[in-house]
Amino acid sequence: MMDYKIWENIKGFMAKEEAAHLHDLACELSRKGPIVEIGSYCGKSAYVIGSACKKNSSILYSVDHHKGSEEQQKGEEYFDPELYDEALQRVNTFPVFCRTLEQNNLEDTVVPVAASSETAGRMWKTPISMLFIDGGHSFEAAITDYQIWSPHIMSGGYLVIHDIFTDPAKGGQAPWQVYKEALSSRLYKEMNMIMTLGCLQKK
Ligand code: SAH
Ligand code: MG
Repeated sequence: MMDYKIWENIKGFMAKEEAAHLHDLACELSRKGPIVEIGSYCGKSAYVIGSACKKNSSILYSVDHHKGSEEQQKGEEYFDPELYDEALQRVNTFPVFCRTLEQNNLEDTVVPVAASSETAGRMWKTPISMLFIDGGHSFEAAITDYQIWSPHIMSGGYLVIHDIFTDPAKGGQAPWQVYKEALSSRLYKEMNMIMTLGCLQKK
């Protein structure tokens, strides 16, 4: 069961309306096959999607190298000193992510893939019911996630992209560019956009 009180206390970046929609989509889609998310961070979205997968005895593969995105590094806007590992001399979100799964009984549902998106996807073959892209926000990182993983989305499955800002004053443009790229491929049908959560269904 998804509990918003628990969810609010998991570090991360997502609005409640977005979480609710993501959960609804995952409840429907995860019956048809596994879900893949790019960008685990501390497990905020994995909790949302994982709770849905659990109901259907499905699986969420959650991919992250756990070294943080560019904007989460020391000195940058989204740096969190609690997630800095002094021994490793870098950001390390993996321990917190694992704790989120353990505390919420999601260890039999969410499979952590501690690798870069590129490495994790190199030998991937399984059709995906939903791909949630919420990883690196440089154009390079976002388009790579799309190119590697989206071909595996099954017909009727969803491509969901977070942090879509159509106005450059409100946020980075890479996810929006990737969204437009997906639309121009004509492989997807445009569905509801919930705040910054763009949803496309594969034809
Ligand atoms: N979905 C999370 C937020 C993810 S933040 C939430 O709900 O809160 C983005 C994450 O993407 C970071 O943890 C960062 O380590 C990861 N990331 C960035 N580039 C990546 C890449 N190329 N491969 C794997 N993970 C990456
Ligand atoms: Mg995001």
